[in-house]
Amino acid sequence: MKVGFIGLGNMGGPMAANLVKAGHEVTGFDLSRTVLDAFAKAGGKAASTVAAAAGGADIVITMLPAGPHVRLVYAGEGGVLGAARKDALLVDCSTIDVDTARAVTEAAGKRGFDMLDAPVSGGVGGAAAGTLTFMVGGSAGGFAKARPVLEGMGKTIVHAGPAGNGQAAKICNNMILGISMIGVCEAFALADRLGLDRQRLFDISSKSSGQCWSMTSYCPVPGPVPSSPANRDYQAGFTADMMLKDLNLAQQAAQAAGAATPLGAAAAALYQMLTNSGRGAKDFSVMFQLLASGQL
Ligand code: NAD
Repeated sequence: MKVGFIGLGNMGGPMAANLVKAGHEVTGFDLSRTVLDAFAKAGGKAASTVAAAAGGADIVITMLPAGPHVRLVYAGEGGVLGAARKDALLVDCSTIDVDTARAVTEAAGKRGFDMLDAPVSGGVGGAAAGTLTFMVGGSAGGFAKARPVLEGMGKTIVHAGPAGNGQAAKICNNMILGISMIGVCEAFALADRLGLDRQRLFDISSKSSGQCWSMTSYCPVPGPVPSSPANRDYQAGFTADMMLKDLNLAQQAAQAAGAATPLGAAAAALYQMLTNSGRGAKDFSVMFQLLASGQL
């Protein structure tokens, strides 16, 4: 396939490189010269504008920071909607708000394009290893067409329903993660104060009803799970800033939909405090330090 790839940053760079490895002809664009050069070194064809990357493609993939960037790249002057072939499939993999995802898909539809929202989980490691999970919203036909290309970048590809549902799945999942991580951090901070050994709590809880991914795969204290970021001074991983972004998107969606998410709101407030404390670039499990600090 001829792939146009726009947004070649921490996630998009390795994703596009994996598409090159899978045998696709990938033309990429990014505002940053540095990442564009790295993409060219990985075998991609560097374009000098959005339109040049999107123009000849069978499928256009975007991996951008947030909703305003996605609106601009698709619907702005010189954007994808004006440049892509009418039979091209458009796939936005950025994590953005549900309303923007649905609005851009609608604008694309009016111009005759089929468009999917396909945010990912798995982080930079998953992007490099080609093991991402894709949560896809949009038409069944578009999903079937995108699947073989997405398989070049991920292991689990799930159709979550119509337009916007990929973003909905992403923020619901990350709201669970943000809340469960705080729960596990609070338990370890309390155990410390009560004189309960961390490893003992882990041995018991990881086999009991407190068991969850934040405990068993990503334990926020050093020791029990050697691969977790806590063992390398909370080097990300998935940054606290990114978690805050996703929790704020979940709150925005909950307010618009009239859904009660009191723990989601409390989690967003705590991650805001965490980033305000200067720890935003650390892994989100650094929440343990804030809760254990005695400063709350
Ligand atoms: P990043 O900032 O490293 O990359 C984004 C890239 O988009 C940058 O290189 C930037 O120059 C480029 N860009 C911005 N505006 C552009 C424009 N108008 N035209 C062309 N390029 C433009 O961010 P990232 O970590 O790669 O994340 C991308 C998306 O993936 C975000 O929505 C993020 O929430 C989501 N995500 C990130 C992770 C992660 O662990 N990093 C995990 C899952 C999802």
